[in-house]
Amino acid sequence: MKEDLSKLPPRPRPEPPREHDGYWEGLKEHKLRAQKCSSCGSLRLYPRPMCGECYSMEFEWVDLKGTGKIHSWATSHHPFHAGFKNITPYLTVTVDLHEGLRLQAPMYNHSSDEIFIGMDVSVAFENVDEELTLPHFKPTKT
Ligand SMILES: [Zn+2]
Repeated sequence: MKEDLSKLPPRPRPEPPREHDGYWEGLKEHKLRAQKCSSCGSLRLYPRPMCGECYSMEFEWVDLKGTGKIHSWATSHHPFHAGFKNITPYLTVTVDLHEGLRLQAPMYNHSSDEIFIGMDVSVAFENVDEELTLPHFKPTKT
C-alpha cells in the first residue's frame, strides 16, 4: 500500500535565539544578511555573538549579494524527519558566497547530475508563512 503523503506531520521549524533575529528578519524581507564586526570589519555567518578575528561583541547586519558558487552538495534520499518525505530525494548545497562566507541550503527541483562544483547559484526565498521565510538556491540566470 502506498503511503498517503498528504497526511505527513508538519516540518520542524527553526528555533533560533534572539541574537539571530537580524538574519531571520532579513530572510522575511528576501535579503540574505550577515553580521559585520564593527571593530575589524570581518563578516560572519551563521550568526554568533563574538567576532572570531578580534573578539569584539559589536556588529551590524549587512546585506549580502546572495550569489556564489557551489562548493559541494549532498543528496538526501531518506528524510531526517517525516515532514520532508514528500520532497525526497532533495539536494543540499554548500555555497561559497561572493563575500567569502559559506551557506548550506536546499536546492529544489534539481538532481546531482544537473549541478557541478563551481556552478553559479543565487539565493531564493521560500515564504513558509508570515513568520518564517527559508533560503534555498537556484542556478543563476545568465
Ligand atoms: Zn572583529
